Amino acid sequence: MTTVTSAPALDPDSGLIPLDRLPGVGKRHAENLARLGIGSVNELLLHYPVRWVDRRELRSLGSLTAADGTSSEPDENGKLRKSEVTALGSVVGCRVVGARGYRRRSFRDRLEVVIQDDSGHLALVFFGGGWRKDHFKTGVRILVSGTLGTYRNRLQMQNPDYEILNREEEEAIHTGSLFPVYPLTRGLGQRQLRVWVRRALEDFMPPDPLPASFQTRIRVVSLSEALSAYHFPRSPEHRESARRRLAFEELFFDQLLVYAARLRREHGMVSFPIRADGRLYRRVLASLPFSLTPDQERATKEILADMSTARPANRLLQGDVGSGKTVVAFLIAAAAADAGLQTAFMVPTEILAEQHQRSLTRLGGEFGLSPRLLVGSQSRPARRETLRVLADGTAPLVVGTHALFQDEVRFGKLGLVVVDEQHRFGVMQRLALMQKGKAAHLLAMTATPIPRSLAMVRYADLDLSVLMQRPSGRGKIITRVTGEENREKVYSFLAKRLGEGRQAYVIYPLVQESEKTDLKAATTMAQRLSRHPEFRGYETALLHGQMKSEEKEAIMRRFVEGEIHILVATTVVEVGIDVPNASFLIIEHPERYGLSQLHQLRGRIGRGPHTSYCVLVRDDSMDSQIGERLKVFSRTDDGFELARMDLLMRGQGDLIGTRQSGRPECRLADPVRDLELIKLARKEARKVLDAGTLLTRKSPEWKILREKLKFYMSSSFVTDAG
Ligand code: ADP
Ligand code: MG
Repeated sequence: MTTVTSAPALDPDSGLIPLDRLPGVGKRHAENLARLGIGSVNELLLHYPVRWVDRRELRSLGSLTAADGTSSEPDENGKLRKSEVTALGSVVGCRVVGARGYRRRSFRDRLEVVIQDDSGHLALVFFGGGWRKDHFKTGVRILVSGTLGTYRNRLQMQNPDYEILNREEEEAIHTGSLFPVYPLTRGLGQRQLRVWVRRALEDFMPPDPLPASFQTRIRVVSLSEALSAYHFPRSPEHRESARRRLAFEELFFDQLLVYAARLRREHGMVSFPIRADGRLYRRVLASLPFSLTPDQERATKEILADMSTARPANRLLQGDVGSGKTVVAFLIAAAAADAGLQTAFMVPTEILAEQHQRSLTRLGGEFGLSPRLLVGSQSRPARRETLRVLADGTAPLVVGTHALFQDEVRFGKLGLVVVDEQHRFGVMQRLALMQKGKAAHLLAMTATPIPRSLAMVRYADLDLSVLMQRPSGRGKIITRVTGEENREKVYSFLAKRLGEGRQAYVIYPLVQESEKTDLKAATTMAQRLSRHPEFRGYETALLHGQMKSEEKEAIMRRFVEGEIHILVATTVVEVGIDVPNASFLIIEHPERYGLSQLHQLRGRIGRGPHTSYCVLVRDDSMDSQIGERLKVFSRTDDGFELARMDLLMRGQGDLIGTRQSGRPECRLADPVRDLELIKLARKEARKVLDAGTLLTRKSPEWKILREKLKFYMSSSFVTDAG
C-alpha cells in the first residue's frame, strides 16, 4: 500500500491562521482543541455542529407528560422507543441527596434540580452528579435535552444534556435561529466554541476556493455565506443551502483529485482500440441463444464506445444478480479478440471460474473462443500449458482466480481485463493484473447494487454502466422469513417442488471457512437432510470452501446436470453461480448476513421460468434490528432498493469507502439525497481538468484549488482503480 499523508483541510498555501489569534485561546485550550483535530482557525470553521436546537422544537414545561418520553413509533417488538425532549427554564431549586444508609463502596450521591417556566416546572436528576451543583445557581437559565421518565409518579428527566445560557444565546434561540451544538471534548464548553466560531466567521474567513463566476453558474452560495449559515442558520432551509455548498466543495475536490490522478496515471498511455465491427463479435452476437435485454444492448454499446479509442477505458458494469453481466463481458472479449487482443477474466472463486469456462465455451466454443482456465489447484501440466498459450498470445481468453496475477503469468497481448465481482478484490490485485498489459482496458463488474450516487463517489474514477432490468421469462421469487417451529412444513413444501423436478440450495453459513465447529454443523445438516423421510430418493451433497477443487467441481457439475437435488453449501455459492433449474433456497442463520449478502444469495434462484422460493429460517433469539432487516429483505427483491434501505438503516458511514484512501473525507455529502450534487461535482471536475483551466497558471481564480490539488497529488493516495 502507498503511504498516506494527512493534510491540512484547507489551502495549505494561504497560510493557516494560528488558534491563538482567537481571544482566550492559550496553550491549554489549544491542546483541548487539538483533541478535536482542530489545529488552526481554518479547521475550527470546519468543526461542524452535530445538531442544532430549533426553537420550534422547544417544549413548554407545563405541556410535558410521561407520554412525551416515548415515541409514538413502536419498534420491532412493539415497544415504544424513548425519544428526546428539549426545553428551556430557570433554576428554582437544587439539592444534593446523599444515598444514606447505603454501605456500598461505590457510594453515589444524586443531584436534584428543579427548573421552571411560565407554564410549569420539571425535575432533573443527575446520578452521581453532586459535583455539578455549582452550575445550577437559582435564576440561571438552562437548556436541557433528554428523555422523560417517572419516579414515584413524578415526572423527571434523568441525566440530561444541559447548557447554561447567557442572554445573547437565549435571544438567539428566541429570534428563531437554530442554535449549534458542537462535538466537545474534556475542558471545552459549548459557549466557548460558539464564541470562537463566531469570531472566526467575522474576522478570519478564509478565501473562497471556488471562483465567483463558477459559483454563479452552478448556483451555490459563497464560502463565507455557507460557513456562517451552517454554524448559525436562520432556518432549516438556510442551513440546507449552506450544506449544499459545503458538500459540493467536498465532492468537487474529491472528484478533482481522483480524476487528476487518473489523468496522470494514463498520461502517455496508448491502448489498442476495441470495436464492434469485427467478425467474431458479430458471429457471437448472432448466435446467442437469447436476445439481449435493452439494458445489455445499451451497456455493450457504452462499453465499446469507451474502448474504441486509444485511451484506456475504466468502466464499472453494475447490475443486479442475474441481470446478465457475463454475456456483456463476453461480447466485449469477442470484440477484443477481433482486434487481436487477449482478455483476462478474473473471478473470486474456483467454482465461478469453472462455471464461466463452461458457459463461455457454450457461447463461443465454435468460434475458437473457449477460455483457458487458470486456478490455484490445477495440475501442473495443465497450468504449464495455459501459461504457454497466454505468453505466446495464441489463447484469446483466460478465466482465472487470484492465480492470474502471479508473476509468472505473462500475456502476449493483453488488451482487456474483466474483473467479475470486483468488490471481492483489492485495488492492488487489480493493478497487478492490469500491469500485465501495456494499457489494457478495464471492465469491472459488480452485483452489489450500491446506489448510483454512492458508486459515483466510491468508484470516482470508474465510468458507470448499469443493468437495471433482468432478462424476461423468469419466474418470480417469493421470500418468507420463518422460525424453527415451521421447519418441517418448509421441508414438505420443498419436497413437493423437488417432486416437480426442481432443485434446491440450503445455505449454511460458516463464519470462517476454517472454523471446524461450523463446518461440523453444516456437515450434520447435510446428513440430516439426506436421511430425512421427505427427501427419500433425492440426492443431497455438501459443498464447502475447504474441499479440494476437483471435488467441488465434480459436485457442482452434478448439480448443474440435475443429479444432485439438494445442495447444502456454505457461502461458496454466494457469488455468480447460475443453475436455472434451482428454484428453492433455504438460508439458515440469516441473521449472520447483511442485506446485500442475503440478496446475493437469493440471486442464485429465480433464474428459470418457475416460481422460486427463498425461505429464511431465523434464530428465535434474534434481536429486533435484525428482524427489521429481514423484513425489509422479504419485501423487495430489487437490489438497488435494498442497497438504498441498507444505507438508510446503517447511516451513511464512510462515503468514500476506504478511510485509508488518503482522499479527504466527504462529511456533509449524503449519498441518499445528493445524487444530483454528486453528478454535478463529477461533471464539473472533469470539465475543468479536461479543459486544462484548473491546472494552468493562467487562471488565477483556480489558484487555491490548484495548490491544494498539487499538495494531495504529491502525497500518494489510493484511488479505487489504483
Ligand atoms: P449476473 O449478472 O448475475 O452475473 P449472469 O451473467 O450469470 O448474471 O446471467 C444469468 C443468467 O441469465 C445466465 O443463465 C445467462 O445465460 C442468462 N441471460 C443473460 N442474458 C440473458 C438474456 N438477455 N435473456 C435471457 N437470458 C439471459
Ligand atoms: Mg456474475
